[in-house]
Amino acid sequence: MPLEPYACSNCGHWQRYFAVPPDCPICSDVRNDLPAEGWDFVRPDALEPRLSYHWREAIPGVWEFWSTPRFGLDSHGWLLTYPDGNVAFEAAPHYNAAQLAHIESLGGIAMLAASHPHGYGALYQLQDHFAPELLIQKSDLQWTKAMRVTMPYDEVFEIRPGLTLHHTGGHYEGHAILHDAERRAVFAGDALKIDFAADGAAQAISCHKAYHKQIPLSVEELRRYRSVFAALDFTAVFTPFEYATGIGTDAALALLDTMIAGRPNTRPMRLPR
Ligand SMILES: [Zn+2]
Ligand SMILES: [Zn+2]
Repeated sequence: MPLEPYACSNCGHWQRYFAVPPDCPICSDVRNDLPAEGWDFVRPDALEPRLSYHWREAIPGVWEFWSTPRFGLDSHGWLLTYPDGNVAFEAAPHYNAAQLAHIESLGGIAMLAASHPHGYGALYQLQDHFAPELLIQKSDLQWTKAMRVTMPYDEVFEIRPGLTLHHTGGHYEGHAILHDAERRAVFAGDALKIDFAADGAAQAISCHKAYHKQIPLSVEELRRYRSVFAALDFTAVFTPFEYATGIGTDAALALLDTMIAGRPNTRPMRLPR
């Protein structure tokens, strides 16, 4: 029997399975909540009519792909374009033909990576369609069964000059962030969570081991984040769910120093305006 893709409606995680999967490994993990109404798995042909598909150039050379209404954790995919091979980081919940054609028109995908499973979205579709190298930190291989990781990496991996993956651990054992030195941006996965004011400005940042259960990171995990972020120059933050300007190295370090100095927590810390 062929393996078919199924998405968990609660978190959006894709599995290839020979029947409707018995459970979702991401929702069964402590970092996510179980669906109160029970499992609901959806195949691509049933999902597509439920979604509207969007893209935009968020900043020059960085394209954002997403869909509405919200599906699963509602991840957004980022595509960084370069004349000699594009890089995709994180993925949208599902891609339709128009989105895939647009990526194709921008030059396809040479290198594909993600911070951790909450940002995977339909990574499997991007790998099926564009056959890029797939880079995942080696400690998160257990979550990648729907894909084939072609380049597991250790602590630091330079994708191209100025574009580097850094292993942070913490939220997930293999959690990693992508630093874009040229654009002074960090694709922070769930290492930094951003809250926005009503006018759309970034208002507060926080960090967590588990968001729904509000489990903080340990002091050692926070120190690890600090040592990674302290070495990176950035003024903008992209996550699987949001994009914010005006959050830089100083703001990240202020949050982490506060957490390390006191009792670590998951509460948002206000940014200076
Ligand atoms: Zn799930
Ligand atoms: Zn996460």
